[in-house]
Amino acid sequence: MTPQFDNSYARLPERFFTKQSATPVPTPSLLKLNHNLAGEMGLDAEWLASNEGLAMLAGNDTPAGAEPLAQVYAGHQFGGWSPRLGDGRALLLGEVTGPDGQHWDIQLKGSGRTPYSRSGDGRAWLGPVIREYLVSEAMAALGVPTTRALAAVSTGETVLREAPFPGAILTRVASSHIRVGTFQYFASQKDRDGLETLLAFSVERHYPELAPNDALGFLSSVVEAQAELVAKWMGLGFIHGVMNTDNCHVGGLTIDYGPCAFLDTYHPAKVFSSIDQFGRYAYGAQPEILVWNLAQLASALLPLIDEDSEKAVEAAQEVLHSYGPAYTSAWQRNFFPKIGLADGGEEEIALVKDLMLRMADNQADFTLTFHALLDGGARDLFIDPTAFDAWEATWRDHQPDPALMAKANPGVIPRNHQIERVIKEAVAGNMDPFHEMAEVLSRPFDPGPEAAPWQKPPLEEELVQQTFCGT
Ligand code: AMP
Ligand code: MG
Repeated sequence: MTPQFDNSYARLPERFFTKQSATPVPTPSLLKLNHNLAGEMGLDAEWLASNEGLAMLAGNDTPAGAEPLAQVYAGHQFGGWSPRLGDGRALLLGEVTGPDGQHWDIQLKGSGRTPYSRSGDGRAWLGPVIREYLVSEAMAALGVPTTRALAAVSTGETVLREAPFPGAILTRVASSHIRVGTFQYFASQKDRDGLETLLAFSVERHYPELAPNDALGFLSSVVEAQAELVAKWMGLGFIHGVMNTDNCHVGGLTIDYGPCAFLDTYHPAKVFSSIDQFGRYAYGAQPEILVWNLAQLASALLPLIDEDSEKAVEAAQEVLHSYGPAYTSAWQRNFFPKIGLADGGEEEIALVKDLMLRMADNQADFTLTFHALLDGGARDLFIDPTAFDAWEATWRDHQPDPALMAKANPGVIPRNHQIERVIKEAVAGNMDPFHEMAEVLSRPFDPGPEAAPWQKPPLEEELVQQTFCGT
C-alpha cells in the first residue's frame, strides 16, 4: 500500500520553500529499511521495500499526495550570520500520520541540488548516510528526542569528496524540520506575517496546548525542550559538533548529524569536529552555547511577543533566565540515576562532579565507567585506580540503587572507531557490520553477549581524533 501523503508545509506561503523534484539516480538499491519505525509511522514496510517504494526512497518517483520541496532557513554558523541557508541537499516529500495521530515529515537527504545548494552538489555519500542512520537510531533507543532514519539507499552514482565515494540517500523522518534558523530567516526579512504563520504552524506541530499566536509560551516551551535535550546529551557523553542555530530544532529534537560523536575517554573540553577549531561546541560547552542559540530565537520572536519593543525584550529575557534552572534540574534528573540516586542536593551534585573530575584526570571511558558502577570493574578503567576507590567509599554511603543505574547507563553506544569500520566495510561492499551494529544499538540498556565486541573502547591505533561534516 502506498503511503497516504499530505504536505501541509506546501500550503504555507510560497516564500517558505521552493518546490522542486529530486534528481533521479541511475541504479538505486535498498541498503536498509527500518521496519519498526515504518510500523510506528503506519507505513507498509513491504511496499517500501518494493520497486515502487525504492523509487520513492531514491527520489526517482513522487508518490501521489507528496509535493517535494526544499525549506528555506537562515542561521548563525559558528557565530557568523548566514542570511539564507535552506535545504541544499534535502527535500521534504510531505507528511504521513501514524496510527497514534502523530505527524511525520518524510525527507530525502542527498536527493540532488536545490536553489539552496550554493556550491554543493546536493548529494550525500554512503559514509555520512550510515553514520546518521546508526547514530540517530541509537539516540532514539537511548531515549533521546531525535530525527529518525527510515531507510538508506545507494544510488549507483559516484559522489566526489576527498575521493570518489558511492552515493547514497537517507530517508529522514521527524515531527517537523523547523529550526531556530527558520524563525531567524523570516525575522531577518522583517516578514512579520511570515513569522506569525511559522509560529502558528510550529505551535500546532509541537506545542498544541498553546494558543497559535503565543510567541512567549512558544519560546518558553522551546527553552524547556532544548534544556532537556542537552542534559540528555550530556548524560550520554554525546557531542553534537555543529550546534549552529540552523541545527537547533524548535521541537527539541537532535537534528543534523554531521561530525557528531560520543566520548570515549571523558574530558569536558573534548572536540571531535575538524571544523570546530576553537572548541565552541566542545562537550562541556554545549549547555552554555545553547543559551546563545535560544537568545537568537528570542530575538527573532520579539515582534510577536509585544508591540512595545522594550516590554518584548523584558519578557523574552525573563523566559531565557528560566533556562538555567531548567537545565540544572534536567542535569540532575539525568545524572543522579547514573550513580543510583533518585534525587539529591548539593552534596549529591558534588558527588557526581567529583567522580567526573576523577574520570577526566584518569582518562576513564565515559560509558564504561558509569556502566561498570553497576557490576564492578570501574576502578580498572582509571589510570590510577585508587582515585576511584576514594570516591567509591563516599558513594557507597549513599546506598545507590542498582535498578536506577541499569536504566540510566547504557552498555553500548555508537563509538567512532566502530562507525568508521562499518563505513569502510560498506564502501567495500559488505553491509553486514552495518546491520549488526544497528541491531546491537537498538538495545543499549540490555546489550546481551553478542554486543560484547561493540562495547569495547578503541585501541590506541583505532582512536578517532577527528570527525567530518560529510558534506
Ligand atoms: P549542515 O552543515 O549539514 O548543517 O549544512 C549546512 C548547509 O549546507 C545547509 O544549508 C545544507 O543544506 C548545505 N549543504 C550541506 N551539504 C551540502 C551538499 N552536499 N550540497 C548542497 N548543500 C549542502
Ligand atoms: Mg544543518
